[in-house]
Amino acid sequence: MKPLIVANWKMNPTSREEAKNLFNSIKEGIGSAKIEVVICPPFVYLPLLSGLTLGAQNVFYKEGGAFTGGISGAMLKDLRLEYVIVGHSESRRYLKETDEIINQKIKEALDSGLKIIFCIGETAEERDADQKNEVLERQIKKGLENIENLENINIAYEPVWAIGTGNNCSIEETKESIEFIRKLVRPDTRILYGGSVKSENSGEYIKDAGANGLLVGGASLNAEEFIKIVKSAE
Ligand code: PEP
Repeated sequence: MKPLIVANWKMNPTSREEAKNLFNSIKEGIGSAKIEVVICPPFVYLPLLSGLTLGAQNVFYKEGGAFTGGISGAMLKDLRLEYVIVGHSESRRYLKETDEIINQKIKEALDSGLKIIFCIGETAEERDADQKNEVLERQIKKGLENIENLENINIAYEPVWAIGTGNNCSIEETKESIEFIRKLVRPDTRILYGGSVKSENSGEYIKDAGANGLLVGGASLNAEEFIKIVKSAE
Protein backbone atom coordinates (compact mmCIF):
# COMPACT_ATOMS: atom_id res chain seq x y z
CA MET A 1 0.00 0.00 0.00
CA LYS A 2 1.34 3.42 -0.92
CA PRO A 3 1.66 5.50 2.28
CA LEU A 4 -0.61 8.51 2.60
CA ILE A 5 0.60 11.60 4.45
CA VAL A 6 -2.08 14.18 5.18
CA ALA A 7 -1.50 17.76 6.38
CA ASN A 8 -4.36 19.12 8.47
CA TRP A 9 -3.81 22.86 8.75
CA LYS A 10 -6.90 23.22 10.97
CA MET A 11 -7.90 26.93 11.24
CA ASN A 12 -4.48 28.20 10.11
CA PRO A 13 -2.83 30.34 8.78
CA THR A 14 -4.71 33.63 9.04
CA SER A 15 -3.97 35.13 5.61
CA ARG A 16 -4.03 34.07 1.95
CA GLU A 17 -0.43 35.18 1.57
CA GLU A 18 0.77 32.91 4.38
CA ALA A 19 -1.30 30.02 3.04
CA LYS A 20 0.19 30.37 -0.43
CA ASN A 21 3.73 30.67 0.94
CA LEU A 22 3.37 27.61 3.15
CA PHE A 23 1.82 25.60 0.33
CA ASN A 24 4.51 26.58 -2.18
CA SER A 25 7.35 25.80 0.25
CA ILE A 26 5.88 22.35 0.87
CA LYS A 27 5.39 21.80 -2.87
CA GLU A 28 9.01 22.70 -3.66
CA GLY A 29 10.42 20.63 -0.81
CA ILE A 30 8.46 17.50 -1.60
CA GLY A 31 9.39 17.44 -5.28
CA SER A 32 8.37 14.11 -6.72
CA ALA A 33 7.77 12.17 -3.51
CA LYS A 34 7.03 8.49 -4.02
CA ILE A 35 4.18 8.61 -1.56
CA GLU A 36 0.78 10.26 -1.63
CA VAL A 37 0.67 13.68 0.05
CA VAL A 38 -2.57 15.55 0.67
CA ILE A 39 -2.85 19.10 1.98
CA CYS A 40 -6.05 20.06 3.81
CA PRO A 41 -6.20 23.84 4.29
CA PRO A 42 -9.25 25.82 5.48
CA PHE A 43 -12.03 25.97 2.81
CA VAL A 44 -11.35 29.60 1.88
CA TYR A 45 -7.80 28.88 0.68
CA LEU A 46 -8.68 25.86 -1.46
CA PRO A 47 -9.30 27.72 -4.75
CA LEU A 48 -5.96 29.55 -4.39
CA LEU A 49 -3.73 26.48 -4.17
CA SER A 50 -2.66 24.03 -6.86
CA GLY A 51 0.06 21.56 -7.70
CA LEU A 52 -0.43 19.11 -4.80
CA THR A 53 -3.40 16.90 -3.97
CA LEU A 54 -5.92 18.83 -1.90
CA GLY A 55 -8.45 17.78 0.69
CA ALA A 56 -11.08 19.58 2.76
CA GLN A 57 -11.30 19.43 6.54
CA ASN A 58 -15.03 18.73 6.64
CA VAL A 59 -18.17 18.47 4.49
CA PHE A 60 -21.91 18.87 5.06
CA TYR A 61 -24.20 15.86 4.65
CA LYS A 62 -26.58 17.32 2.05
CA GLU A 63 -25.97 17.99 -1.61
CA GLY A 64 -27.32 21.54 -1.57
CA GLY A 65 -30.18 23.74 -0.35
CA ALA A 66 -31.10 25.76 2.73
CA PHE A 67 -28.17 24.81 4.97
CA THR A 68 -26.49 28.08 5.93
CA GLY A 69 -22.75 27.67 6.32
CA GLY A 70 -22.73 24.24 4.70
CA ILE A 71 -20.28 23.07 2.02
CA SER A 72 -21.34 20.01 0.04
CA GLY A 73 -19.34 17.15 -1.42
CA ALA A 74 -20.42 18.26 -4.89
CA MET A 75 -18.92 21.72 -4.25
CA LEU A 76 -15.64 20.19 -3.11
CA LYS A 77 -15.54 17.90 -6.12
CA ASP A 78 -16.17 20.89 -8.37
CA LEU A 79 -13.00 22.44 -6.89
CA ARG A 80 -11.19 19.28 -8.08
CA LEU A 81 -10.60 18.08 -4.54
CA GLU A 82 -9.80 14.44 -4.04
CA TYR A 83 -10.11 13.97 -0.28
CA VAL A 84 -12.11 15.09 2.71
CA ILE A 85 -11.49 14.60 6.43
CA VAL A 86 -14.59 13.38 8.26
CA GLY A 87 -15.10 12.76 11.97
CA HIS A 88 -12.08 14.67 13.27
CA SER A 89 -12.19 14.75 17.06
CA GLU A 90 -12.27 18.57 17.00
CA SER A 91 -15.41 18.45 14.81
CA ARG A 92 -16.91 15.78 17.05
CA ARG A 93 -16.17 17.99 20.07
CA TYR A 94 -16.78 21.58 18.95
CA LEU A 95 -19.37 20.98 16.21
CA LYS A 96 -21.08 18.23 18.21
CA GLU A 97 -20.81 15.72 15.38
CA THR A 98 -22.21 12.33 16.34
CA ASP A 99 -21.43 8.92 14.79
CA GLU A 100 -24.76 9.20 12.93
CA ILE A 101 -23.93 12.62 11.46
CA ILE A 102 -20.48 11.37 10.49
CA ASN A 103 -22.08 8.38 8.75
CA GLN A 104 -24.29 10.74 6.70
CA LYS A 105 -21.29 12.91 5.83
CA ILE A 106 -19.27 9.92 4.66
CA LYS A 107 -22.19 8.78 2.47
CA GLU A 108 -22.64 12.22 0.90
CA ALA A 109 -18.90 12.62 0.28
CA LEU A 110 -18.60 9.16 -1.28
CA ASP A 111 -21.63 9.82 -3.50
CA SER A 112 -19.85 12.98 -4.67
CA GLY A 113 -16.80 10.94 -5.65
CA LEU A 114 -14.50 12.02 -2.81
CA LYS A 115 -12.06 9.84 -0.91
CA ILE A 116 -12.49 9.85 2.85
CA ILE A 117 -10.04 10.27 5.71
CA PHE A 118 -12.27 8.95 8.46
CA CYS A 119 -10.97 9.87 11.93
CA ILE A 120 -11.57 7.72 14.97
CA GLY A 121 -9.99 7.66 18.41
CA GLU A 122 -10.63 7.36 22.11
CA THR A 123 -10.46 10.11 24.72
CA ALA A 124 -8.16 9.90 27.75
CA GLU A 125 -11.13 9.01 29.97
CA GLU A 126 -12.21 6.19 27.66
CA ARG A 127 -8.66 4.85 27.55
CA ASP A 128 -8.34 5.00 31.34
CA ALA A 129 -11.64 3.16 31.68
CA ASP A 130 -10.39 0.39 29.36
CA GLN A 131 -12.99 1.27 26.76
CA LYS A 132 -10.64 2.00 23.89
CA ASN A 133 -11.45 -0.98 21.66
CA GLU A 134 -15.16 -0.65 22.34
CA VAL A 135 -15.06 3.02 21.28
CA LEU A 136 -13.02 2.32 18.14
CA GLU A 137 -15.37 -0.49 17.13
CA ARG A 138 -18.45 1.65 17.71
CA GLN A 139 -17.05 4.58 15.75
CA ILE A 140 -16.11 2.36 12.81
CA LYS A 141 -19.37 0.38 12.74
CA LYS A 142 -21.65 3.41 13.10
CA GLY A 143 -19.58 5.64 10.86
CA LEU A 144 -19.57 3.08 8.05
CA GLU A 145 -23.09 1.72 8.61
CA ASN A 146 -24.89 0.79 5.37
CA ILE A 147 -21.91 1.76 3.25
CA GLU A 148 -21.03 -0.97 0.81
CA ASN A 149 -18.37 0.66 -1.30
CA LEU A 150 -15.48 0.92 1.14
CA GLU A 151 -12.79 1.30 -1.50
CA ASN A 152 -12.35 5.04 -0.94
CA ILE A 153 -12.20 4.90 2.84
CA ASN A 154 -8.98 5.60 4.74
CA ILE A 155 -9.06 5.35 8.52
CA ALA A 156 -7.06 7.80 10.66
CA TYR A 157 -6.50 6.46 14.16
CA GLU A 158 -6.08 9.54 16.32
CA PRO A 159 -6.16 9.07 20.10
CA VAL A 160 -7.83 12.30 21.24
CA TRP A 161 -5.38 12.68 24.13
CA ALA A 162 -2.47 12.65 21.68
CA ILE A 163 -3.76 15.41 19.39
CA GLY A 164 -1.97 18.72 19.78
CA THR A 165 -0.56 17.76 23.18
CA GLY A 166 2.99 16.71 22.29
CA ASN A 167 2.09 13.42 23.97
CA ASN A 168 2.18 11.08 20.98
CA CYS A 169 0.93 7.50 21.38
CA SER A 170 3.72 4.96 21.89
CA ILE A 171 4.67 2.77 18.95
CA GLU A 172 3.62 -0.40 20.85
CA GLU A 173 0.19 0.95 21.75
CA THR A 174 -0.36 2.31 18.25
CA LYS A 175 0.62 -1.06 16.79
CA GLU A 176 -1.93 -2.82 19.00
CA SER A 177 -4.70 -0.39 18.06
CA ILE A 178 -3.89 -0.63 14.36
CA GLU A 179 -4.01 -4.43 14.59
CA PHE A 180 -7.39 -4.19 16.31
CA ILE A 181 -8.74 -1.76 13.67
CA ARG A 182 -7.32 -3.91 10.88
CA LYS A 183 -9.70 -6.74 11.85
CA LEU A 184 -12.71 -4.44 11.42
CA VAL A 185 -11.96 -3.07 7.95
CA ARG A 186 -11.13 -4.36 4.48
CA PRO A 187 -7.57 -5.70 4.14
CA ASP A 188 -6.73 -2.99 1.58
CA THR A 189 -7.93 -0.09 3.78
CA ARG A 190 -5.14 2.31 4.71
CA ILE A 191 -4.89 2.95 8.45
CA LEU A 192 -3.12 6.20 9.32
CA TYR A 193 -1.85 7.35 12.70
CA GLY A 194 -2.34 10.92 13.94
CA GLY A 195 -1.48 12.68 17.20
CA SER A 196 1.58 14.88 17.83
CA VAL A 197 3.51 13.44 14.90
CA LYS A 198 6.85 15.14 14.30
CA SER A 199 9.88 14.29 12.17
CA GLU A 200 11.62 12.53 15.10
CA ASN A 201 8.83 9.96 15.49
CA SER A 202 7.09 9.87 12.08
CA GLY A 203 9.15 7.12 10.43
CA GLU A 204 8.58 4.71 13.33
CA TYR A 205 4.82 4.79 12.92
CA ILE A 206 5.18 3.55 9.36
CA LYS A 207 8.07 1.13 9.87
CA ASP A 208 7.32 -0.28 13.33
CA ALA A 209 3.68 0.38 14.19
CA GLY A 210 2.28 -0.75 10.85
CA ALA A 211 0.60 2.56 9.95
CA ASN A 212 -0.07 3.08 6.24
CA GLY A 213 0.30 6.82 6.61
CA LEU A 214 0.04 9.80 8.94
CA LEU A 215 -2.35 12.63 9.68
CA VAL A 216 -0.26 15.60 10.74
CA GLY A 217 -1.69 18.71 12.42
CA GLY A 218 0.65 21.19 14.11
CA ALA A 219 3.82 19.98 12.39
CA SER A 220 2.26 20.49 8.95
CA LEU A 221 2.32 24.27 9.49
CA ASN A 222 6.12 24.23 9.34
CA ALA A 223 7.15 23.43 5.76
CA GLU A 224 10.62 22.17 6.68
CA GLU A 225 9.30 19.87 9.39
CA PHE A 226 6.45 18.57 7.22
CA ILE A 227 8.85 17.82 4.34
CA LYS A 228 11.04 15.82 6.75
CA ILE A 229 7.96 13.85 7.84
CA VAL A 230 7.08 13.08 4.21
CA LYS A 231 10.64 11.95 3.48
CA SER A 232 10.65 9.72 6.59
CA ALA A 233 7.71 7.80 5.17
CA GLU A 234 9.25 7.19 1.76
C1 PEP B 1 -4.74 16.46 13.79
O1 PEP B 1 -5.11 17.61 13.69
O2 PEP B 1 -5.38 15.56 13.22
C2 PEP B 1 -3.55 16.17 14.57
C3 PEP B 1 -3.13 14.94 14.67
O3 PEP B 1 -2.92 17.23 15.16
P1 PEP B 1 -1.45 17.24 15.82
O4 PEP B 1 -0.51 16.60 14.82
O5 PEP B 1 -1.15 18.67 16.05
O6 PEP B 1 -1.51 16.43 17.06
